Amino acid sequence: MIIAPLGSGSAGNSYYFESDGTSILVDAGLGPRETRKRLEKVGRDIEQVRAIVITHEHYDHIRGAARLAAKYGMPIYLTRGTLEASSIDRAETNVVVFENNTTFAIGELNVHSKRTIHDAADPACFVIEARDGTRVGLASDLGFVDDTVLNHLRGCDGLFFESNHDLDMLRLGSYPWSLKRRIMSRFGHLSNDDSMFAVQRMIGAELKTLCLIHLSQKNNTESIVRDMAAKLLARTGVQLELSIAKQFEPTGVFEIARRRSVPRVAPVARHAQMALF
Ligand SMILES: [Zn+2]
Ligand SMILES: [Zn+2]
Repeated sequence: MIIAPLGSGSAGNSYYFESDGTSILVDAGLGPRETRKRLEKVGRDIEQVRAIVITHEHYDHIRGAARLAAKYGMPIYLTRGTLEASSIDRAETNVVVFENNTTFAIGELNVHSKRTIHDAADPACFVIEARDGTRVGLASDLGFVDDTVLNHLRGCDGLFFESNHDLDMLRLGSYPWSLKRRIMSRFGHLSNDDSMFAVQRMIGAELKTLCLIHLSQKNNTESIVRDMAAKLLARTGVQLELSIAKQFEPTGVFEIARRRSVPRVAPVARHAQMALF
């Protein structure tokens, strides 16, 4: 599977996934022109993108979705809660509603969704699974990582996981107290410490690539996160590709495959509860 983070953080999130001829975007926090430009930088054509899957309705994840859908005719997959909390006009837009904690198929990709804890209507994280059984997890905007989410993301071959802020930088920084409290709450974002603790519990023999995402521009630095993750990997003796996602340019192109290819049992049917609008 090919994964390319196009932008990660509060200025706009978008992640490109491709396998066996199916390409999708998870989140559309960049406008159509910027999305196309960044896809070109990683050698991909926006015309090939088949769908957008949305994690939640916050602006940095959904801002470009309706315009991308209109311009390129791609459907937007999202939960009903996300749809209702968003400004997407369902009469004008090709929308596919999925229910959290279910699996649905887009072309050759299976998307396993799981509800997360965040201050949004019905937020989701995903494991995207390819035909050969390769599994890549993507989770950001987590106030708290419960066991359900941890178990969902275990056993992945690639993991794109939030490491939002350094607690001291946030505490001592210039944000108003109300915003600091929101970020630190169970419905906000994951601190580096909480992220590393969760990653430690999710690292398995299969994990080949770890990319820390959605870093705060004000309250974090790439070097802090890289140091913490490198120490964690050294402590656990795990060897893998470590990366930190960038905000204003594509982070790169990751090619992730199962170490031992175990084809999935059967492609899933579209979930019966999904409705087309
Ligand atoms: Zn966000
Ligand atoms: Zn959010």
